[in-house]
Amino acid sequence: MLITTVLNHIEKHKSFVYGKPRWGKGRKQIEVPIAPRKNGQAICSGCQLPAPVYDRLGRRRFNYVPLWNIAVVFLYTMRRVNCQRCGVKVEKVPWGRGKSPLTRSYSIFLATWARRLSWSEVAGIFGTTWNRVFDAVKEMVEYGLEHRDISGVTAIGVDEVQHGKGHSYLTMVYQLNGKTRRLLYVGQGRTAKTLLRFFHDCGKPWCLQLQFVCSDMWKPYLKVIAKKASQALHILDRYHIVAKLNTALSEIRASEARKLRREGYEEVLKHTKYCFLKNPRNLTVKQKLKLKDVLKYDLKSVRAYLLKESFQVFWQYSSPYWASWYLRKWCARAMRSKLDPIKKFVGTVRNHEELMLNWFKARKQFSSGAVEGLNRKVNLVTRKSYGFRSFEVLKVALYHTLGHLPEPEVAHRFC
Ligand SMILES: [Zn+2]
Repeated sequence: MLITTVLNHIEKHKSFVYGKPRWGKGRKQIEVPIAPRKNGQAICSGCQLPAPVYDRLGRRRFNYVPLWNIAVVFLYTMRRVNCQRCGVKVEKVPWGRGKSPLTRSYSIFLATWARRLSWSEVAGIFGTTWNRVFDAVKEMVEYGLEHRDISGVTAIGVDEVQHGKGHSYLTMVYQLNGKTRRLLYVGQGRTAKTLLRFFHDCGKPWCLQLQFVCSDMWKPYLKVIAKKASQALHILDRYHIVAKLNTALSEIRASEARKLRREGYEEVLKHTKYCFLKNPRNLTVKQKLKLKDVLKYDLKSVRAYLLKESFQVFWQYSSPYWASWYLRKWCARAMRSKLDPIKKFVGTVRNHEELMLNWFKARKQFSSGAVEGLNRKVNLVTRKSYGFRSFEVLKVALYHTLGHLPEPEVAHRFC
C-alpha cells in the first residue's frame, strides 16, 4: 500500500491530487507534493467562491499528522485568483487555514492531545513547539465558542478564582442545569464590569430566561446579578458560606494556639486544625481521639467548633420558614460567644439572609458541590505548568478543558 492510497482514503480533496511522496531533510521527513487537478477550480479566500487563476506564488509547506513518528509535510505552490468580488486574493486550500503552517488535520490532532497532556508534553511528543500547540488549541476554542449552543441554559453559577501570585482574580460563569456542567465565561478580574460583560455578550433575551443564579457573597457580583437577572432566583452557594465559617474557626484556633504556646502551656491545640475543619465522619481514628481530648478543655476554639457543627443543622431543614427560625436562633447564640471572627460571620449571615434562604427554595435543583467541583478543576488547570504567561493563554486553556465546546468535523479521527 502506498502513502498516497492512505491519504486518498483519509483526506481526499476533490480539486487536488497527491503526488509521489519522497524523503526530505535527511530522511527525517516525508514530503508529499500536492498539485491542483487540471479542471479543478481555485477558490477565493475572501468570498469562498470559485474564481479564475491570476498567478502563482512560492511553494508553501504545510505540516501534516506525523506517520510512524516521521514528520509529514505537504508541498504546494499557492495560486492567486482574480476575484470579481474581492480583487486579487490568495486561493483557499481545503487542508490549510489562512497563513498557518499547520494543516487543519494536524491542528485538530494537536488540540485533541492537548486536552489530555500538558502543552509542552504534546509539543515534545509530536515534534513541534509550544507555540504551535497553543495556536492549535486557540483555534479549536475559537471554533467552539462560535458554534456552541447556550440557548438551553437556565441556571448559572458565578464564582471568583484566584490565580498566579498576588491578588489576581478570574470571574468564572458556569452552566449548572442539564447534564453538562460547563464553563461559559472567563473574565479577567472580579469587578462588576467583568461580570457585566458576560451578561452583555449573551444578550437581554438570554438573561431573561435564566431561572437560577448561584454565586458567592462578593458584592459587585450581587449587584450585577440583581440588575441583569432580577427574575431569576438568586442563591448563595452553600460551599462559600461554609468556607467563611471555617475561616473564622481557623482564625480563632490559630491565635489561641499562639497564645497558649506563649504562656507555656502544653500544646493542647497542636495538630488540631483538621480535627476541627473536617466533617466528624471523615476523621481518622487518631484525629477522633485528639478531638475528643481537646473538647474537654474550656477553650475559645472549642466554643467556635461547637458553633460550626451546630450550624450544619441549618442545611437540613426543608422549609425556608423553619430554616430561618433556626438561623436566627443560631446567630443569637453565636453573638453571645464573644468570638470576634464568629461575630463577623454572623454579620455576613444577617446581611445575606434572604439569599441564603433561597437555597431552600432551589435545593432540589442543585447539589451544594456543583460550583465547588468545577472550582477544583479550574485550580488544576491554573496550577498545571502549561507556561501560562498571560491571561489570554489561561483563558484558552480553561475553555479548552472545561467548556465542553463543539469541535470541528473531521473526515478521519487520528486520536
Ligand atoms: Zn472573492
